[in-house]
Amino acid sequence: MKVEQILVGRMAVFSYLVYCPETKEALIIDPGGNEEQLAEKIKQKGLNLKYIVNTHGHSDHTGGNAKMKTLTGALLVMHEADSELFNTPLAHGMAIHMGFEPSPPADITVKDGDKLVIGNVTLTVLHTPGHSPGGICLLGDGNLFTGDTLFVGGIGRTDLPGASHHQFVTSIREKLLSLPDETIVWPGHDYGPVPSSTIGQEKKLNFYLRPPYM
Ligand SMILES: [Zn+2]
Ligand SMILES: [Zn+2]
Repeated sequence: MKVEQILVGRMAVFSYLVYCPETKEALIIDPGGNEEQLAEKIKQKGLNLKYIVNTHGHSDHTGGNAKMKTLTGALLVMHEADSELFNTPLAHGMAIHMGFEPSPPADITVKDGDKLVIGNVTLTVLHTPGHSPGGICLLGDGNLFTGDTLFVGGIGRTDLPGASHHQFVTSIREKLLSLPDETIVWPGHDYGPVPSSTIGQEKKLNFYLRPPYM
């Protein structure tokens, strides 16, 4: 499994191009901007983009969905809860207000334990609600894509509509901190001192994973 981390948009969002080097099948996580650049990269590498996957429905992560779909023909994947919550006139209005293009509805909705397969690579969906009701992390081959659930040295906000601090703590404790220490953490924003980390490092150094936060 190959992973490429790409900084996109204007809110320091990390998008990830994940692909199988043998079959060239690929998926992209959170194309929150720079769609043409992303599509060009996919083309240059000779990849066949199967899925556009959103870690959650916030527009800084979904703002490039519409254009990416048009440019690549890939199917849009989101957790069923966020697909519902963010596919309303109100949510679309908010996205436009923030300067983002509203996302089309998901072609495929997923839930905890579902698997996304690209060639010889499998990513498992971990439902980690709290930052948003349909927030997910993706786990495969020792790589964990954490969206706005876990950052390097930080965690996501829980003061937005649909958020729950209680759910968030449970998600992080049960689904993420239980993973092997060497699991690589690929966050949804470039907010840390370094662009990626590991579960072991975060357990040691991330202040927000201790009381009084957790
Ligand atoms: Zn978010
Ligand atoms: Zn975000």
